[in-house]
Amino acid sequence: MAANEPVTAIAGERQVTCTHCGEVWFWSRRVVMSSSSASLFNLDGFSPTVIQLSCTRCGKVELFQPDALLTRGASA
Ligand SMILES: [Zn+2]
Repeated sequence: MAANEPVTAIAGERQVTCTHCGEVWFWSRRVVMSSSSASLFNLDGFSPTVIQLSCTRCGKVELFQPDALLTRGASA
């Protein structure tokens, strides 16, 4: 996943806005929550990876499950 382009995101049919400053542009990054293979498949209904959105203006970080989030780059 490219991390060199800011994205806007939609979760739960709502535009994701920064809870601190209200910005709608974020840096997107996929983060593995756990490296323990034993626990990966015990997290029923919960992905072991999350999408980390970092506000491009203030740096506030939000976390979302990948399957709940739609991101769109500026050039897409
Ligand atoms: Zn912000």
